[in-house]
Amino acid sequence: MSKDHKFKPESLMMSYGFKPELSEGSIKCPIFQTSTFVFKNAQEGKAFFEVAYGLREKENNEEVGLIYSRINNPDLEILETRLKLWDKAEDCAVFESGMAAISTVLLEFLKPGDVLLHSSPLYGGTDHFINDFLNKIGIHTISFTPNDSKEDIIKRLKNSGLANKLSMIFIETPANPTNALIDIEMCKSIADLYSSMDEKVYLAVDNTYMGPLWQHPLKHGADFALYSATKYIGGHSDVIAGACCGSNEVISRVKVLRTFLGNMAAPQTGWLLMRSLETLKIRMEQQASNAQKVSEYLDRHEKVEKVYYLGLIKENTEAYQIYQNQYDSPGAMLSFDIKGGEKEAFKFIDSLKLIKLAVSLGGTESLVEHPNTMTHAGVDAIHRKELSITDKLIRISIGVENDQDLIWDIEQALEKVEI
Ligand SMILES: *Cc1c(COP(=O)(O)O)cnc(C)c1O
Repeated sequence: MSKDHKFKPESLMMSYGFKPELSEGSIKCPIFQTSTFVFKNAQEGKAFFEVAYGLREKENNEEVGLIYSRINNPDLEILETRLKLWDKAEDCAVFESGMAAISTVLLEFLKPGDVLLHSSPLYGGTDHFINDFLNKIGIHTISFTPNDSKEDIIKRLKNSGLANKLSMIFIETPANPTNALIDIEMCKSIADLYSSMDEKVYLAVDNTYMGPLWQHPLKHGADFALYSATKYIGGHSDVIAGACCGSNEVISRVKVLRTFLGNMAAPQTGWLLMRSLETLKIRMEQQASNAQKVSEYLDRHEKVEKVYYLGLIKENTEAYQIYQNQYDSPGAMLSFDIKGGEKEAFKFIDSLKLIKLAVSLGGTESLVEHPNTMTHAGVDAIHRKELSITDKLIRISIGVENDQDLIWDIEQALEKVEI
């Protein structure tokens, strides 16, 4: 028995960071539904503001005092303390949505004239923010696909004539909806190549699809692990939220901008996410176990042309190497090409009884959608084709249902499809 035993994150999700004696002995963290906090006396108010406004360094053991819920609130602080454990991050900032987390990081670390290099396809909201809003304020963007090698990407940067302005690399891996993989360490090496003594090129990874359990971007050199906490972290399709994990240095900058944009999560959201975190691991593991079984079933089915799932990647391929290095599980998102086209895909989707037709992912219930006409309808046609987003592609987010019920539902829906 070791004396310095360290608890795993799943053992800490119920109580870590919460002091019952500060809340009438309550076993659970209450919802601190309050806008402001009473100072014991004027001297304490002065001390809290000195720290909050950076007028002096925090003393050893000095905790940041509670001032006002846009700056800090116990439900958010305790949630952040728990969330950062999964990524072994120094700090974490939670937001009112995944888009709030992403846009705040991009705004804090980019300025007009800078270049943002990003993978494609990106989540629709992120793509819009980058290619419409950031372009409008003079930030240049260059994209690459999971098919591009390191050399291809460097060539793109050089051809742009703006390589010396590179400030940030932003990626999503696995790519939605085809689960194509991008090597985080390869992106880190590009960031290092263009970093100088006084200008660091940051690497941000949207880890919504596989985090915080199955992929840890910070471990592979990323500066930010970003989340739509609406997905696996929330996990019950009943809350919109976001998070960003990283070093103290970067997260303190993110939190300052969050304070002034005012896009922190509300106390109720923090409380809901703490409840969700208690079951995060068992939910995600059940979802992945179901997804493996469903993908194997689909892979054998005569009406299915191709299944895109990390658990089916062939050994001895480049993708397999990335998979082995970067992931702890194949996850619970899968897509497949049905034989035929939109008509057959729609017939399948409309015939499902248990699996619901909705966008979003990561919740306890399984959801199906048609990327070509729904989540990725905004991607231009040529690009969509390059990325294998066609009219026969169907995406499923696998939930915690009984695996045989899921397979039964898929079987009966495929039976209704005529090919
Ligand atoms: C949903 C999602 C987002 C946006 O998150 P919201 O919580 O809806 O703002 C960003 N990235 C990915 C990969 C997502 O799936």
